[in-house]
Amino acid sequence: MAEPRKMIDCRWFPTENACDICISGSEEDVLDLAVQHAVQSHGHQKSIELREQLRSMLRDEESTEKVA
Ligand SMILES: [Zn+2]
Repeated sequence: MAEPRKMIDCRWFPTENACDICISGSEEDVLDLAVQHAVQSHGHQKSIELREQLRSMLRDEESTEKVA
């Protein structure tokens, strides 16, 4: 079975100019991209705290993908 995918939506992130980008994939890949995105697009400082904050916002990707 495939690893369950996680998703994160930029609208969930408490930032002033949040966009509506949505990232989904395996947990570590989503976090890598989410950190990059937060830094490049929203001017956050790259840090462990940022990564952990993003991790806490991950949700299971469910029912959006029914074809196995
Ligand atoms: Zn964004």
